[in-house]
Amino acid sequence: NADIPRPVLDVIARLRELGHAVYLVGGCVRDMVRKVHPKDFDVATSALPEEVQRAFRKVIPTGIQHGTVTVVQGGTHVEVTTFRSEGDYLDGRRPSSVAFERDIVKDLSRRDFTINAMAYNPLDRDLVDPFGGQTDLQAHLIRCVGSAQERFSEDGLRPLRAVRFAAVLGFSLDPATRDAIPATLGVFRKVALERVREELVKLLLSPRAEGGLVLLADTGLLDVFLPEVARASAEAARLTRAAVQAAPLEIEVRLAVLLADLVDRTQARDIGLRLKFPNKVADLVALLVEHAKLEERVGEADPALRRLLARVGLAQLPQLLAVARARVSVRAPERLPEVEALAARLEALAAAKPPLSAKELALTGGDIMATLGVGPSPIVGEATRFLLDSVLDDPALNTADTLRARLKEWHARSGR
Ligand code: ATP
Ligand code: MG
Repeated sequence: NADIPRPVLDVIARLRELGHAVYLVGGCVRDMVRKVHPKDFDVATSALPEEVQRAFRKVIPTGIQHGTVTVVQGGTHVEVTTFRSEGDYLDGRRPSSVAFERDIVKDLSRRDFTINAMAYNPLDRDLVDPFGGQTDLQAHLIRCVGSAQERFSEDGLRPLRAVRFAAVLGFSLDPATRDAIPATLGVFRKVALERVREELVKLLLSPRAEGGLVLLADTGLLDVFLPEVARASAEAARLTRAAVQAAPLEIEVRLAVLLADLVDRTQARDIGLRLKFPNKVADLVALLVEHAKLEERVGEADPALRRLLARVGLAQLPQLLAVARARVSVRAPERLPEVEALAARLEALAAAKPPLSAKELALTGGDIMATLGVGPSPIVGEATRFLLDSVLDDPALNTADTLRARLKEWHARSGR
């Protein structure tokens, strides 16, 4: 109980004082049983949402139609949900109805896996575990509550959640749970890609992402939402998974490593957008994929590397280096020293803060027009590109006098 924050205990005590059944449920109970500090605490109660609202001074009706209210207690937010059961799933995505229940076991029986279907009352130290969650936690097994076939047919996201929990916890799928996946892929196909993306992110950022990706491929799930990756040869897939595992826990980096050797930048961006990542994320992943193969650039001179920095942007250099290191450490470990030397050169070039864009030129657009004696016209753009090209070759040229002299020379030469 030492783990449970004071405000959560206060909410539980208050509801019990009013005569309601009340428990912690879901992930926090699973984590406490395995002796890991939970990241959030969900409370479930027999009290109806209106009764919960009346029991506390400050409440937010977060998802009141599903029975969830947020109690603001001692400066923190505590989610309290009325015991629920769910009506039939008609479309494999959401239940046709939800009903409030008086009995915790009814609530637990709608939950996905045995390890997520335990409840705990810290005041009575009462653990409710009707489906063998503790045994499965000890055995490191993800097992559906009831028939896997039925549970996966109700909500098509559950098979992916099973694989995600296996990766996050380092567990295996119970054979019956695993064997039910291929036959229910048709239901998984209907799931909103936002929900798929949320689970994929958790899987990719887990300590066993490599094993999670193997399970995704073997169960057929991967082919549904990442066919470009599922199509890879066995060897390419193995290398890619190992590289993902070797990459730091940053979603853009891990996604780029997953895609860099299998698709081009356009496909990478399309995949990011298809999976409903924000534009910013899809663009960054595409950029990282485009430039990921740093090992191909080890021989290049400073001007070329400065142009690379200009394309990638100084802010994204650490992520690009992370992608390259992860790939090379797996695909060509003997080349890692060369890539590290290149990384050091890129970092040194970046640290010198060279001018990389038009707005960093020592001449403004106005200066350029004055020097050429023209108003706004296409030639200003051409002149700007010429000057930027010059300073990318040699940043020492970036003074107003030098650029003005070069500009006049260029203008005379171009004959305009
Ligand atoms: P995490 O630590 O990743 O948040 P969690 O167990 O809290 O793990 P959530 O996705 O936050 O996972 O869900 C909270 C609880 O709600 C789960 O433990 C499970 O009991 C139940 N649950 C969530 N999604 C489903 C689902 N699709 N089908 C059935 N039960 C679900
Ligand atoms: Mg949670």
